[in-house]
Amino acid sequence: MPAPVWILHIDMDAFYASVEQMDQPELRGRPVAVGGIGGRGVISAASYEIRKYGVRSAMPGTTARRLCPQGVFLPVRMERYKEVSRQVMHALEEFSPLVEQASVDEAYMDATGLERLFGPIPELCETIRARVRKATGGLTCSVGAAPVRFLAKIASDQNKPDGVFLIYPEDVDSFLKTLPVGKIPGVGKRGREILQELGVRYAGQIPNRPRAFWEQRFGKWGGELYDRCRGMGSTEVVPYAAPKSCSAENTFERDTLETATLRRWLLAQSDRVASDLRRHGVRGRTVTLKAKFADFRQVTRSRSLDHRTSETDTIYGTALELLEELCPKTPLRLIGVGVSNFSPRSRQLSLLEPEETSRPDPKKQHLEQTVDAIRRRFGPGAVRRAALLEKPSDKSEPSKHGDGQSSGGNGRDGSSGH
Ligand SMILES: [Mg+2]
Repeated sequence: MPAPVWILHIDMDAFYASVEQMDQPELRGRPVAVGGIGGRGVISAASYEIRKYGVRSAMPGTTARRLCPQGVFLPVRMERYKEVSRQVMHALEEFSPLVEQASVDEAYMDATGLERLFGPIPELCETIRARVRKATGGLTCSVGAAPVRFLAKIASDQNKPDGVFLIYPEDVDSFLKTLPVGKIPGVGKRGREILQELGVRYAGQIPNRPRAFWEQRFGKWGGELYDRCRGMGSTEVVPYAAPKSCSAENTFERDTLETATLRRWLLAQSDRVASDLRRHGVRGRTVTLKAKFADFRQVTRSRSLDHRTSETDTIYGTALELLEELCPKTPLRLIGVGVSNFSPRSRQLSLLEPEETSRPDPKKQHLEQTVDAIRRRFGPGAVRRAALLEKPSDKSEPSKHGDGQSSGGNGRDGSSGH
């Protein structure tokens, strides 16, 4: 018999506020809120102490201050939260490779079959919680366990903070009977109102009407609601997969053999690729140059470095060498740069890579991080290399051309979850 499916939802308790209270022991036990600094800011996280005053996340800072004038209001330190978040995710990955980070402070884990390794599910949940506490230096989380994802998420909220809640397969029906419909993900204020008009207060009442009824009311989503309220839902946990390569290429408006033009394109592309690599938190060892001739013949040339990189200059320098070696004799219609051969993500996220033979230049790294931050805020065109600002000798302006840019692999945007 196959092992029963268990999906866990692990959710850190008042994450940002708890990190602040951990880092500043004098704040422990005090009403703390993160965010809401400045005139129009909203609260990002509220400690359990300040929640007693009615302060909640997403509330305007001014309201929060009025509710709790003695509260401690702190600025958001996202880099620090991300650092702790990585510790949490690493701790979870010690239990299973099937960990999906859902946000900076929550993750799903497919725990099916883990009982054989770690004991019964309640025990596993406690072991995970202890491991997270140790890995972070003392933070608590709540864990929900259920046969499907959305129930696991609901479950992690049931005994929050610092608690565990399990929904065994045989208890799903009775759990849904008393579950207020508003707790089902996707049922908002308006949905609740409509359901209330229909006399529906609990999830378990939905299946009293046929699936078609709900589809008629809410469309496709109505069918999903019906399924969920019968305990059916997704069990899929998709672990993060870094892209296997990052590349950028452009097709010229006019075929060209002009060195200065080709170099400028390569620099713009190298910069774009390097920026992508850093966004995904990966570095690659192999640089590939791609060129397509006017007659559509295509060639690629690759070189592996003695270290992994996400630096524009290194990528550009290597691409340039490859171009010089290729020494095209006929005009090119396309040129592109790619980087592949990444280090595994688990090691990538530790700050030091033991196998690294040449350390990245910290000054250069700092510069590139600054550039990335400005681009995140003001868009990709906000910072350009001086060499790219030279008057182009052909009509095309490399950094304005988004066409042909591609990021290989199935990676998701690292900035969303981490
Ligand atoms: Mg949380």
